[in-house]
Amino acid sequence: MILVENLTKLYGTRIAVDNVSFEIKKGEVVGFLGPNGAGKSTTMRMLTGFLSPTAGRVQIGDHDMAEAPLEAKQLLGYLPETPPLYHEMTVRDYLDFVGQLKGLNAQARKQRIDFVLEKCFLTDRTRQLIGTLSKGYKQRVGIAQALVHNPPLLILDEPTSGLDPQQIIQIRALIKELAVDHTIILSTHILPEVQTTCSRVLIINGGKLVAEGSAEQLEAQLQGSMRIAMSVRAPEAALLARLSEFPQLRDVSLKADAGTGLVQAELSVPPGVDPREQLSQMVVSAGWGLVEIKNVNLSLEEIFLKVTTQEAPAVAASKEASHV
Ligand code: ADP
Ligand code: MG
Repeated sequence: MILVENLTKLYGTRIAVDNVSFEIKKGEVVGFLGPNGAGKSTTMRMLTGFLSPTAGRVQIGDHDMAEAPLEAKQLLGYLPETPPLYHEMTVRDYLDFVGQLKGLNAQARKQRIDFVLEKCFLTDRTRQLIGTLSKGYKQRVGIAQALVHNPPLLILDEPTSGLDPQQIIQIRALIKELAVDHTIILSTHILPEVQTTCSRVLIINGGKLVAEGSAEQLEAQLQGSMRIAMSVRAPEAALLARLSEFPQLRDVSLKADAGTGLVQAELSVPPGVDPREQLSQMVVSAGWGLVEIKNVNLSLEEIFLKVTTQEAPAVAASKEASHV
């Protein structure tokens, strides 16, 4: 549905988007995640044809954005960071105006506007001036205007930014509902957004794509080695001695809690090695109590911090999957 190749944008000499390539397939809901200033809005403006790239190309469906912008734009609905709402217009008049711009005839407009008003829970606000709506309702009108011409693809730039928690829940629910029959890419600088609504995540930082994949794939990819945590009722020194008999264990750290009599052990193992069974047997055969043993994974939050705060090598957890 979207194909982006080597997309680059320079503002003067400053590089805002740096050689970004990705593909989004029909039906996907993709989160475009990155800190403020990462290049999300600039990328989305190029995806929607509002800004021309310095280099690289965008294809929407079968249409190249530079060669066939009208056909490409017909396939997409765009919620910009600041939606172009006319505050002195009523909700219905505004949507009718947008429908005219999109080239819909009067009958098609009436039908589509009734549909999107219903879809965006705006039916009780059709005659209200946009300027008098709450921020959450304005955002619904912003999404409604993106839907008027019935595009299969939605490009939403920070759809929940500036909303209160209840409005955020409502907009997320609306996005979930739209996801049933739309391909969606939405940008955000907050993590829970992608975890609740998206099937795949692209992480951008400093204009570069630094990671992509499902939350689970990113976790697996960035994990590298598995980290294991154990809670054992045992003498600390004796436990350490027995653990040192396992050659694959790295970064072993023990912490004894005098109060509970438990030792918390944490250790790493190389990829592909899982010594949890042997460790359990060792503890039990020594006559100690094994209270817990588990592997501790990085959360998406930790991955996000890892790839956006240090010079991380580009990670593409789903490269093969995304080119099927
Ligand atoms: P995000 O949406 O991820 O917060 P943006 O795409 O808005 O990031 O911005 C990316 C970078 O480009 C930032 O460093 C920003 O300051 C810069 N930038 C954005 N728009 C312009 C512009 N019109 N002129 C100059 N620099 C810009
Ligand atoms: Mg932005």
